[in-house]
Amino acid sequence: MSSGDHDHDHDHPHGSDLSETQLRVRALETVLTEKGYIDPAALDRIVEAYETKIGPRNGARVVARAWTDPGFKAELLKDATAAVQTMGHVNRVGDHLIAVENTQARHNMIVCTLCSCYPWEMLGLPPVWYKSAAYRSRSVIDPRGVLKDFGVTLPEDTEIRVWDSTAETRFIVLPMRPAGTEGWSEEKLADLVTRDSMVGTGQPLRPGEPS
Ligand code: FE
Repeated sequence: MSSGDHDHDHDHPHGSDLSETQLRVRALETVLTEKGYIDPAALDRIVEAYETKIGPRNGARVVARAWTDPGFKAELLKDATAAVQTMGHVNRVGDHLIAVENTQARHNMIVCTLCSCYPWEMLGLPPVWYKSAAYRSRSVIDPRGVLKDFGVTLPEDTEIRVWDSTAETRFIVLPMRPAGTEGWSEEKLADLVTRDSMVGTGQPLRPGEPS
């Protein structure tokens, strides 16, 4: 298979080539390290924490609790920052988390049209497509088309609401609980909650559907 068969329009680097952004980040890191402003080992630990410890599992547990505990769900929709704190998730100072609930009548989608604001504490590192110019512009203009690209088809009469994140305001989608999960534990339900379902570009897995 030639590389031409690898059809995509996002901007990740191929092979060992570094993207312009990666080169800039490396240059910046080198300068800051040489001047003694940062400790590369500390930076590595922060990146590792976001890659391995702080991932979409945090958000999935929040969603699973909202699916099983109506009191928690009400708190989450009222003040998500406070609600997730009761589960030990602390947002960065100044961040305000808002949970938006999907229903049959309304599907929610999250974007940051300006840059790439994302609820890191809930979902870990943002995917490359989230930061792409295509996603950021098209989500607003043609959300239904973007959802189709993600393999999500909604009923025509389902309204799609797009939420634009900012540095202070982050969103997490509370997807609809899949049918056939009556009586499931929080832990088991959390396995169905995909990252994309909390961004609004996907749906939770159905029982038995491979992840
Ligand atoms: Fe942003």
